[in-house]
Amino acid sequence: MAEYIDLEPLSNEDKLLRQSIHKFAKEVLRPNSTLLDKTSPKDRVSMNSPSFHVIREMRRIGIHRIHLPSQLGGLGLTHLQRYIIAEELGWGSLGFATLAGVDAIPFTLAALYGSERIKEELVKPWLEDTEGRYIGCWGVTEPEHGSDYILAFRDKDVESFGRGNVIIEQDGDEWVINGQKSAWVSAAPICTHMGLHAQIKDGKSLRDGAFVIVPLNAKGVRKGEVMDMLGLHDCPQGPVYFDNVRVPSDYVIALPPFYEVFSDQLLNITSVNMGAFAVGLARAAFEEALQYAKSRVQGGKPLVEHKNIKLKLYEMFEKVITARYYVRRAYEFVYRKFFDEQVILTPPRYARAAQVYAKKVAFEVAHEALQIFGAYGLTKEFIIEKLFRDARALLIEDGTVEALSLDAADDLINNYSIEYE
Ligand SMILES: Cc1cc2nc3c(=O)[nH]c(=O)nc-3n(C[C@H](O)[C@H](O)[C@H](O)COP(=O)(O)OP(=O)(O)OC[C@H]3O[C@@H](n4cnc5c(N)ncnc54)[C@H](O)[C@@H]3O)c2cc1C
Repeated sequence: MAEYIDLEPLSNEDKLLRQSIHKFAKEVLRPNSTLLDKTSPKDRVSMNSPSFHVIREMRRIGIHRIHLPSQLGGLGLTHLQRYIIAEELGWGSLGFATLAGVDAIPFTLAALYGSERIKEELVKPWLEDTEGRYIGCWGVTEPEHGSDYILAFRDKDVESFGRGNVIIEQDGDEWVINGQKSAWVSAAPICTHMGLHAQIKDGKSLRDGAFVIVPLNAKGVRKGEVMDMLGLHDCPQGPVYFDNVRVPSDYVIALPPFYEVFSDQLLNITSVNMGAFAVGLARAAFEEALQYAKSRVQGGKPLVEHKNIKLKLYEMFEKVITARYYVRRAYEFVYRKFFDEQVILTPPRYARAAQVYAKKVAFEVAHEALQIFGAYGLTKEFIIEKLFRDARALLIEDGTVEALSLDAADDLINNYSIEYE
């Protein structure tokens, strides 16, 4: 495996885990993601798509069970081990890493906060799934609300954002859903269940929402066209429409006032995972550039012997390791607060800093790496072209870097204390 210097001593167990996940990323994720990258949007979601093969392989090694504690069906990993897996997934394929992330959202949250009925009907079969019969996605963004969902929980004037585009209303023992999620819902075209954020019918703002698990084979659900985006061809995106869709009360996981802290803390979890994926992508781009610069000869010597290339490579390395160690700490901090201490008001600034910083690093490193490849970097012959497109998409996925930074800034200005204990 490629060199991966660790500043902190890892246990033998951690090292073995890293080696085996890296092997998986290299032998399963990478080749299938490059295959999907060159496949048409329609074929990316067909029954023969490599996506399903990879999902089955991820199920086989239990990637879907990494977040949960062991008493709820998880693999009993430490938070550091969870981070290690997330970074390797990002190294192998940002699309499959994203797919693994959104797949876990509805079922993991149902396992943590759901009723016995939903645990029996959905969580248990998902945990035991080996065939990809239960695949999750996360429906937040709407035609009229993108960054609004990132900023809604701290903005003082949230009512000016308007109401959500997906409305949910109670009717006896059921809830009825109407509306549309935007075309960017990752994995929506191939998934079976959505963790949906919806606006309560009489609610005043996006904060008055519900988080509900929707089986996407329910009557009234319709999926739209698969999007063809600049990056992430290895994780299909598409819209989902709801027309009087009925779900049992047991499938509603969070309602006001819990919904507000629930959504905010969920964004902490997704932020540190996106940060880890970004570090993995940055590391992949750096390693590709290093390898290429050693073999490509110009001016009578390998590129690595030219001073400007040496400096570029060093600066890329510096960015990757600083991002890794900050994101890793933030990851362990957020998971400890959420899972071990069950703190419901963990400040968002640390998780947002992890996500924003690592995303910027991934883009800068992929950009510099492509430059080192020269014109070859623009061709589909080398993976660097794909890594660059994926890194560009990262600056928008799961919140734009600007919206995430603004949200962190609000938290910082209102809550950062300069009184040391
Ligand atoms: C690859 C990918 C995967 C995704 N996966 C999912 C998914 O699984 N589920 C899901 O629900 N969504 C998903 N999304 C959607 C994503 O979360 C949104 O695209 C993102 O939050 C930005 O929303 P928007 O695209 O509507 O941009 P907008 O919110 O319209 O923003 C446009 C621009 O204006 C800026 N801006 C917006 N509001 C403000 C403000 N108040 N102040 C200052 N500047 C502002 C933004 O920073 C941005 O530069 C995905 C997106 C991508 C690209």
